[in-house]
Amino acid sequence: MGKYLDDLDEIFIPSLKIAEEALNQAKGPVFLTNAQSIVKRLRFIKHSFQNQARIFYAVKANYNPHIISLLKKEGIDGVDTVSPYEVDLALKLGFSSKEILFTGNNSSDSEMLFVAQKDVLLNIGSLSELERFGKMHGCKTVSLRLNPGVGMGESSGVVTGGEGSKFGVRLDDFEKAKSLIKQHHLRLLGIHCHIGSGYYVTEVFQKAVERILKEAQQFEGIEFVDFGGGFGIRYERKKQAINLNSFWQSIEKTWENFIKYLGKPIEMRFEPGKFLVGESTCLLVRVTTISPGKNNIPFIGVESGFNHLIRPSFYGSYHEIANLSNPKGVIKKVNVVGNICESSDYLGKEVSLNEPREGDVLAILSSGAYGASMSSLYNLRPYASEFLLENDQLTCIRKSPSLEEILKGVGFE
Ligand code: PLP
Repeated sequence: MGKYLDDLDEIFIPSLKIAEEALNQAKGPVFLTNAQSIVKRLRFIKHSFQNQARIFYAVKANYNPHIISLLKKEGIDGVDTVSPYEVDLALKLGFSSKEILFTGNNSSDSEMLFVAQKDVLLNIGSLSELERFGKMHGCKTVSLRLNPGVGMGESSGVVTGGEGSKFGVRLDDFEKAKSLIKQHHLRLLGIHCHIGSGYYVTEVFQKAVERILKEAQQFEGIEFVDFGGGFGIRYERKKQAINLNSFWQSIEKTWENFIKYLGKPIEMRFEPGKFLVGESTCLLVRVTTISPGKNNIPFIGVESGFNHLIRPSFYGSYHEIANLSNPKGVIKKVNVVGNICESSDYLGKEVSLNEPREGDVLAILSSGAYGASMSSLYNLRPYASEFLLENDQLTCIRKSPSLEEILKGVGFE
């Protein structure tokens, strides 16, 4: 096992020189991604599952086409998509329809039809969608997303299995799903679950896998079982990396028995997003304003905010922040806040930081997943630029839009 852990490098932090180069080119905040870090994680996950699992990247974590292309070049097996545009993007990037899964939720008929017409498999997570899809002509294969009755995640907002979750056909409704499949002559190609995002321990995952495989045994015709994504990452340097191999060990026997029972090989799939791209990126910002705060905890104002990285404000997530300009400065307790006109605009609440000074460059670590992809134009502040670092070479992979470009998007020129 040690071998795989040793292979996983640290959370990416650039040198001050590279960070300043990117910030100067961008003239504003930057998501800086280290390509090598993504490549390593793809190899790491494949090794950890003994090359037995096929890895489908969850595009929602970061839809930047340059990043998806990098994963494609490095041999990702496919992508999991959640919207028609993600499907179209994957096709544009050269994935075949067989390499794309569509895990929509609460889909309209037209959305389902759009995806099916592209010959992309729908992974359906409700009886209503299953029934409506079954009634459509010429759409005969499906995958079924089950809710295994358990869920787990790094915060309550990212738990996607269990009683209170809107996702997946509940096990209690499985009989009804089976009869809809029969009634509409659908062919079930895959069984799927995704219990949440950012988990580190195997127990709940193992339970979900056991429950899913018990149901999957009833379908000899299936070609894959997909256990979703959700593998946790480090948001601070002192945390230990996830032991992915222990996830493999926790299900190895059950999987072998399942294959033996069916008497034929079946594909095991995972669809990680966060694990592949999260630790590869930091959001680089400059300190603009320092103001006093309550209990002697100052506000460190930066030229960014929840319009670029919403996770701290939205989920209460913690991201370590490193002061690249003053790495040996005295450690201070501070509030790192953005320039959005909202009191909830935090990037770091009461966090420790080497003494920040106006003009310093801060790196908000592990911002590669659900950072840029969840950003907005709120307050009419543009998206942050994105740069890829490859062999010490910086390439701009998203230019922050000008006002003219934004206005063009709303048909006002
Ligand atoms: N698959 C599905 C269906 C998801 O909803 C998600 C995330 O919400 C993922 C995969 C990826 O999860 P993560 O980024 O935590 O690996």
